[in-house]
Amino acid sequence: MEKKVRVRFAPSPTGGLHLGGVRTALFNYLFAKKHNGTFILRVEDTDQTRFVSGAEEYIESCLAWCGIHPDESPQAGGEYGPYRQSERKPSYRQYAEQLIASGNAYYAFDTPEELDAKRKEVPNFLYGQASRMQMRNSLTLSADEVKELLEQNTPHVIRIRIPEDQHVSFMDMIRGHVSFDTNLIDDKVLLKADGMPTYHLAVVVDDKAMEISHIFRGEEWLPSAPIHILLWRYLGWDDEMPQWVHLPLILKPDGNGKLSKRDGDRLGFPVYAQNWTDPKSGDLTKGFKELGFLPGAFVNLLAMLGWNDGTDQEIFSLAELIEKFSVERISKAGAKFDFEKAKWYNHEWIKRAEATELLATVKAGFEAQGITLNDDSYTLKVIDLVKDRCTLLPDFISQSEYFFAMPASYDVAAVKGKWTTEKATFFNAFSAVLTEEMSAADMEEKFKELAAEHALKPGELMLPFRIMLVGGKFGPGVFDIAFTLGIEETRNRISAALAAFE
Ligand code: GLU
Repeated sequence: MEKKVRVRFAPSPTGGLHLGGVRTALFNYLFAKKHNGTFILRVEDTDQTRFVSGAEEYIESCLAWCGIHPDESPQAGGEYGPYRQSERKPSYRQYAEQLIASGNAYYAFDTPEELDAKRKEVPNFLYGQASRMQMRNSLTLSADEVKELLEQNTPHVIRIRIPEDQHVSFMDMIRGHVSFDTNLIDDKVLLKADGMPTYHLAVVVDDKAMEISHIFRGEEWLPSAPIHILLWRYLGWDDEMPQWVHLPLILKPDGNGKLSKRDGDRLGFPVYAQNWTDPKSGDLTKGFKELGFLPGAFVNLLAMLGWNDGTDQEIFSLAELIEKFSVERISKAGAKFDFEKAKWYNHEWIKRAEATELLATVKAGFEAQGITLNDDSYTLKVIDLVKDRCTLLPDFISQSEYFFAMPASYDVAAVKGKWTTEKATFFNAFSAVLTEEMSAADMEEKFKELAAEHALKPGELMLPFRIMLVGGKFGPGVFDIAFTLGIEETRNRISAALAAFE
């Protein structure tokens, strides 16, 4: 029988959530939803030294913003809980001891000082087959000595015993056949002196306990796969081993190596999903959300980092991604991150969004500037007029604030020099003929007619008119602006500007 699809996103709560992490969550989620499976959020918090308070809540909030809702998680609960590894601590030791009993792991009593001395003495020291017989562990000490040390509660760790001269081979759903030489792998710690498991032990024990069917994770975990595979085998769970799916790296814009938070800081773009404030330093790192990305656009651009549906289509909703997602179409090669392209996605999403979908965000943006927008039907019209010009959500402020208040200043330089009393006369006349019944097209017609009567070219009048209404040389069609502002406001602006142009 086919195993039921159960996948997990297993972040460590150590800080902000990198976009690569969100993409891993997304691919897990898409695969689960595509196959009517279960998507699990498991918090891997066994490394107490790297634990950062608030990081778990932050991860959950980032996923929720993206619309990626776990079926099972610390918050949502589930039948396979707890979903925080620190709360599963008692379940791990037995497996480490089982591995000792079967000869696949051993107690190591080397003190941190002894290990440091060794590292100084031997360059690139690895605790493994070449060195393990010179160390203080249950392979070199007698059974009695080990028993005594354990009885005295001597601090110790448990290490996996990596076999010599073997190849650990497996099928990766993206990479195909992958093989690792065991002689190059060190005897990783499985259980630490504080009784906590390391990532390697916890991940295998939990993936088994939670009946995980497929492991989607970043390529940076590929070197850990042979250790995990050996553990699955040594623990006798071979038959239940999940399938492996190592996702391509997300690369720096120039393609040279993995994209890091530092690259974002250096090149001026976000790498985290949402703003993250480091609780220790108080440093704020900006996120995609606060910079003005729509969650749909963010999810869309992440999906395209290493996946496509085989056509030229680039814009996908989350529902469409679920329908079209397939592991076969994930590429092996790393995907370069291009912030300009990311902004392109957001622009496309804003253009395609209904004004009603943008209303709350736009109002909140203005509110943050101290401007309350009360007339929703007016604001919706404004949004429709300017959305094609907005790449990031804050652009709505600069692109539309003149709809809600008189221009604070005019780009007088753009009209000066060419300004004449004839033009002023024209605008007074134009102001006088405007009526409530006129459409934007009617206004334009009247504008041209009057220009001809005044022996002026409409082309010379359009820019001054725009500056009167907007303050600057930008915005949608000037008659659409006038129509949306309404006759009274248009008249007011003409007369205020005429005074300013003199
Ligand atoms: N805790 C690991 C991380 O932080 C999980 C890796 C895995 O999925 O096995 O990414």
